[in-house]
Amino acid sequence: MTSTVGRVVAGLERRSPPELASDWDAVGLVCGDPAASVSRVLFAVDPVMAVVDEAMATGADMIVTHHPLFLRGVHSVAPVTPKGRVVHTLIGHGIALYCAHTNADHARPGVSDALAAACGLTRTTAIDPPGGDVGTGRVGDLDAPATLGELAGRLVDALPVTEHGIRIAGDLDSPVRRVAVCGGAGDSLLEIVGDSADVYVTGDLRHHRAQDHLLTTGKALIDVPHWAAEWLWLPDAASALVADLGADSVATSVSAIDTSPWTAHLGRNQ
Ligand SMILES: [Zn+2]
Repeated sequence: MTSTVGRVVAGLERRSPPELASDWDAVGLVCGDPAASVSRVLFAVDPVMAVVDEAMATGADMIVTHHPLFLRGVHSVAPVTPKGRVVHTLIGHGIALYCAHTNADHARPGVSDALAAACGLTRTTAIDPPGGDVGTGRVGDLDAPATLGELAGRLVDALPVTEHGIRIAGDLDSPVRRVAVCGGAGDSLLEIVGDSADVYVTGDLRHHRAQDHLLTTGKALIDVPHWAAEWLWLPDAASALVADLGADSVATSVSAIDTSPWTAHLGRNQ
């Protein structure tokens, strides 16, 4: 069972073309020779040392992450910083790293489609389509109305367990039908979503912007953990790669390590 870094990259970019990425983003192959052979690809959200260790422990010779390793210019990859150590360890062990970030957000199916499916949405459009069918976030109607509490329960069941947990703003018994979602940090779409959806599901919502949205629209918000919401895309991306390259050419695995920053949650139930 063998493929190459180049063939894996081509398969990934057929599903998530790099030209769909935002201007500020840094997607693509970070390290690894396109001609090098690959037998196992590990999918993860963050290119951090815990994930590199997991790749070494499980025999993966390529890692695909959602988040980029570098977003700004660097002048050194010496192993004296966390990112430098990642680069050195990857190259030292012959492990390639590829990042599919906003191109995977904007592609269809993409990161927010996995979150939409977790909500029970089957037909969606992009919240912010720059043109055509692709774009940021998804919005659609549930097949049958649910309460805000039921929708949150679905997300609790679908998302990997985290210390961050799920936060809800709104009446748990209120009916919801039209649902907007955005994997990752979705603050920037609050104005576009406005009152067009009964509830907006996203991560990293800040106090003032969330409060303004609630007071202005009267609609609900569900704040899901950034890492967990984007993790939902990983099994989809892994399955698509196997479908494209053939099950006899590459094996995949999905990291279960919670690499979100939050390691404990003390709340009103403690
Ligand atoms: Zn993200």
